[in-house]
Amino acid sequence: MIIVMHPSATKQNVDHVCDLVREMGLKDHPIVGTNLTVVAVIGDDRKKDGTKFEQAPGVDRVMKVLQPYTLAAKADPKQRSVVTIGGPATKSDTVSFGGAMVPVIAGPCSVEGEEAIIEAGNAAKKAGAHALRGGAFKPRTNPYSFQGHGEDGLKMLAVAREATGLPIVTEVLTPTDVKLVSGYADMLQIGTRNSQNFKLLEACGDQPKPVLMKRGMSMTLDELLQACEYILSGGNTGVVLCERGIRTFEDHTRNTLSLSAVPELHHRTHLPVVIDPSHGTGKAHLVPAMAKAAIAAGCDGLAIEMHVCPEKAWTDGAQSVTPAVLAELMPELDRVAQAVGRSCPVGVTADV
Ligand code: PEP
Ligand code: MN
Repeated sequence: MIIVMHPSATKQNVDHVCDLVREMGLKDHPIVGTNLTVVAVIGDDRKKDGTKFEQAPGVDRVMKVLQPYTLAAKADPKQRSVVTIGGPATKSDTVSFGGAMVPVIAGPCSVEGEEAIIEAGNAAKKAGAHALRGGAFKPRTNPYSFQGHGEDGLKMLAVAREATGLPIVTEVLTPTDVKLVSGYADMLQIGTRNSQNFKLLEACGDQPKPVLMKRGMSMTLDELLQACEYILSGGNTGVVLCERGIRTFEDHTRNTLSLSAVPELHHRTHLPVVIDPSHGTGKAHLVPAMAKAAIAAGCDGLAIEMHVCPEKAWTDGAQSVTPAVLAELMPELDRVAQAVGRSCPVGVTADV
């Protein structure tokens, strides 16, 4: 951390700042320039609280040198993590995010019933997807809307996994449900509305299943990575980021899908990055183009809402593609992936 003093700051002001630094158990290193003085703060990052200096007389600004997300940050520029879900423990395909292969998670927004999720699972598998999604616990804006089937929905997902071999990805809403959801799911999803529910994040850090961490709809990338620290610092290294669109003034889409988040996140973190073009646009007809663009931008996976009959979907039908659209899209995704040195093999899951 560097404290930049104002050009008019007195020696007394600088000494006061140095005293504050030492009171925090840190070492001060003032550098006196021709026009102004800066004070470098050396020591344990956890003790550094920049806000304490902002009010001190003579301080112009406080600059952080290191990122506040030590576990999510890259140790070297090339570092990339691979996060694997499924496998023998849940008798499902092994699917990895962050390797050469770019997996596709597909399925309905909500688990509507056992038959429906099996049908959706079979359709996703036939189209060539690699994992099955479906919400058993649904975060709804309106309390009177369908809230999901809860544990029954998790059981339905497990049946669909058994029928298809696809690992399952499903959302967890509360810290008290983490153990329950972790018992069924191959990957726990943290939704956009819960992305700064720190107790939930801590609970997800304290269980073994990988986590699909969605970006909050008004969250900066910096905040997203700090939120991930809650999971990583609990000992769970299986974190996959998901850009699902943010709120802007733009109204031709439900959210604004920030594809530049992919290379920027890869610049800052070793964690894999998944793109959700369904919530990112809110419109099924925009999903294929954005999915292809996401792979071209270097994403490590896609999460796509697919419904056997979108006009009858209980939730998010407008942004759900049909199995036919997904089946047509999958080979195109592979061609784009090949063009950027990756692969998205239709229906093939591979250990990387
Ligand atoms: C979902 O995946 O269905 C969902 C609710 O996502 P988000 O949290 O991104 O809105
Ligand atoms: Mn949805």
